[in-house]
Amino acid sequence: MKVLIIGAGVSGLFIAYELLKRGVGEITIVDAKTPGSGASLRNVACFRSSFTSPEHVILMKESIKKWLEIRDSWGVGIHQNGYIWVARKNETIDVFKKLSQFHNSYGVPTRIIGKDELKEKEPYMNIDIVEGALYDPTAGKMNLMEVFTELYLRVKKMGAKIIPYTPIEKLVVSGGRVKSAISPRGQLDADVFIVAAAEGSKKILESIGVDVPIEPVPRHPIVTEAYSEIIKAGLVIDWDTPGSPHITQTSHGSIILARDVKDEPWIPLNSQRFDAIYKIVKPLSELYPALRYINITRYWMGYYDMTPDHHPIYGPVHPFENLYIAAGFSGHGLMMAPMTGVVIANWVVDGKPGIEVAENLTLERFKTGKLVKELAVIG
Ligand SMILES: Cc1cc2nc3c(=O)[nH]c(=O)nc-3n(C[C@H](O)[C@H](O)[C@H](O)COP(=O)(O)OP(=O)(O)OC[C@H]3O[C@@H](n4cnc5c(N)ncnc54)[C@H](O)[C@@H]3O)c2cc1C
Repeated sequence: MKVLIIGAGVSGLFIAYELLKRGVGEITIVDAKTPGSGASLRNVACFRSSFTSPEHVILMKESIKKWLEIRDSWGVGIHQNGYIWVARKNETIDVFKKLSQFHNSYGVPTRIIGKDELKEKEPYMNIDIVEGALYDPTAGKMNLMEVFTELYLRVKKMGAKIIPYTPIEKLVVSGGRVKSAISPRGQLDADVFIVAAAEGSKKILESIGVDVPIEPVPRHPIVTEAYSEIIKAGLVIDWDTPGSPHITQTSHGSIILARDVKDEPWIPLNSQRFDAIYKIVKPLSELYPALRYINITRYWMGYYDMTPDHHPIYGPVHPFENLYIAAGFSGHGLMMAPMTGVVIANWVVDGKPGIEVAENLTLERFKTGKLVKELAVIG
């Protein structure tokens, strides 16, 4: 079986990895630019299963199991050092209690922590302005370059052909099947086509009359010089400040700060918003006063490929027999990627995803109106 995967981000590569593990031999992955040049190498590299929908909680929980297996077998930097969702308001603790009950009912052991435990976990945090926190011990962060490079090298070694600078402009269909994908470099034929091109998926599928409701919304992470450890948790989220400012520290010491600063979709990635820097740094330096004295080295932009219900679009694209999609991760596609690989590979090989909740995430849901809500879009 000849498979063409469009998009060499973390989703496309994990799909190839799982197909190769299932003995599907001839896999080609094309990318409009270079592998990882989309959101896959522009993110803040954190993971959690403390979401607000059963679909996300179940899939992310499975994904974390896979990440831990990957850590042990590939020897890459994946750290399960927890997420801390900070409450500045007392009433937020009640919201967190309900959220924690929901997580616990799916086996995710989040819990409420008080100021004393918070101070122990985050000694540099100004706990005078907080009331407590939701703590997720199963969440964490990873060394993105290390993980992505290892994934890329493994997929290549297992036999996939990875071709950069090959933008797919349209698909060609005949008799209810996709026959080929067309790029300025020529025509690519295959038995199965998998579109894993984030926001680029929209235009590709438009070429065969399929509407994909994805909008890329820019994000603006800031990175500092390297410092000794200030942020101990994998990610700390300032939940009561609009746009949920959040902060993590990489294993080499740089601190990454980000926040949703409300941008228009489709704005090009070279249109910097320097006002974002102040909006991101201000609330986080209230939380960590030491941040006032540290140096920002640069800032970058990347897209969250958002769907209307903030869940990915997975699975077969009807009415075409041999076409699949995995896109629209709405800011959570790195942590989800091992399960994206499993789910799509199962669909291609066995005709079903192998994990029931994935069936709620097909493109069909936008026609039937069965949307699945996620309220905690952070990272
Ligand atoms: C600032 C920021 C922080 C984030 N933080 C986190 C986080 O902490 N944890 C987490 O899990 N997720 C996070 N994310 C989200 C995560 O990065 C993405 O969900 C994930 O990388 C999606 O991977 P992907 O492979 O689906 O898409 P991408 O990495 O965007 O890959 C899609 C690829 O398709 C290619 N392409 C597009 N159009 C075409 C075409 N026509 N033909 C051929 N190729 C095409 C692109 O060049 C690109 O390489 C963050 C994202 C951003 C921007």
